[in-house]
Amino acid sequence: MISQNANRIADGCRFCWMCRHICPTGIATGREEFTPRARGLIISMLARGMQMDEDLAESMFTCALCGSCSNDCVTGYEPPVFIREGRTEAIVQDMIPQEVAPVIERALNGEDIVEAVECEKRAALLEKLSSLPETAPYAVVLGQTACNRVPDMALNLLSVLDKAGIAYTVIRKDTGAMLYDLVGDVEEVRSQAAAFAAEAEKTGAKNLIVLDPLDARALIQCYPEWEIDVQAKAATAVAFLDDLITSERLSVTKAQTEGVLTLQDPDVLARDLDDTDSARDILSALGTEYREMFLNRRLARSAGSALLASYHADITGEMTRIRVDDAKRTGADAIIAAAPCDLMLLRENGDIRVLDLFGLIDASIL
Ligand code: SF4
Ligand code: SF4
Repeated sequence: MISQNANRIADGCRFCWMCRHICPTGIATGREEFTPRARGLIISMLARGMQMDEDLAESMFTCALCGSCSNDCVTGYEPPVFIREGRTEAIVQDMIPQEVAPVIERALNGEDIVEAVECEKRAALLEKLSSLPETAPYAVVLGQTACNRVPDMALNLLSVLDKAGIAYTVIRKDTGAMLYDLVGDVEEVRSQAAAFAAEAEKTGAKNLIVLDPLDARALIQCYPEWEIDVQAKAATAVAFLDDLITSERLSVTKAQTEGVLTLQDPDVLARDLDDTDSARDILSALGTEYREMFLNRRLARSAGSALLASYHADITGEMTRIRVDDAKRTGADAIIAAAPCDLMLLRENGDIRVLDLFGLIDASIL
């Protein structure tokens, strides 16, 4: 059942088609049905009694939830709101696309959506986590993409915190953020969020340092809507470290990097959390030479999402390659990733050097 709110948003379109030209899944696939307006039309038709089928469901699940279409739309049209509902509807109607079904099954069984790749860094991260205290003034939320696919980014963040003298523990439970994007606002998501909140409470932490902007968005924006109370105040790891550096509680020197860099703005950080300054402040403090890509800050073109990559790596692969072309056009030799998802996708699909922002900071601490 499509809600009135979702239908109101879908019906609000003025058919200017601006979003057609910016949707990265539409561009990567060349398929009209994978654009925001097509997804909106589907929702309008479903709300008027049309039956969900697998092709319509496919259109919902191929969205990267990057938020580009919401950013510029004059009507304040927000496709991600009704796309999540479209996903819930497809599940309720038992019309889940074939490639998505195992991911949903895994997620509803409480397993991670982003599958782990075993490596030395992951073993080192797990060992590090097992040595941490159960309670601390700060609790770090690493998220499943970092823990399972780019553990070096997680290790780099923890190393920076160690050097800054921050007393922390790590919360191992999932916030429910990725499950929310996969299946929409359903009971299982709120249960996962409530379990996270209980775990956060046990740590006694007053502050949460959140590595993945997806988790930060859930904690800051979704939890209050879901009436899930977390006492500790959440900040993204990028904003937290920017604050440490600019307040001179953490001293850094010039980063030892060669060549010109460019920054990939994480979708959720730039658009949902409206933070495009923290990473740039840090790069300035590190004395790096960087150039802006075409489409940056809130307009940044998405390099893909870890969720979409879990069942449509073909689409995210193409999205990343298109973004890497943007990077190369600046003349940059390397892209800096400031979120786990971008680091994972750029490494897996890009033919350009990729640097982890947290690794850069860690190597530059005095
Ligand atoms: S930009 Fe907004 S109004 Fe224009 S076609 Fe897209 S959704 Fe409709
Ligand atoms: S959220 Fe991103 S991928 Fe999804 S419809 Fe909007 S622009 Fe396209």
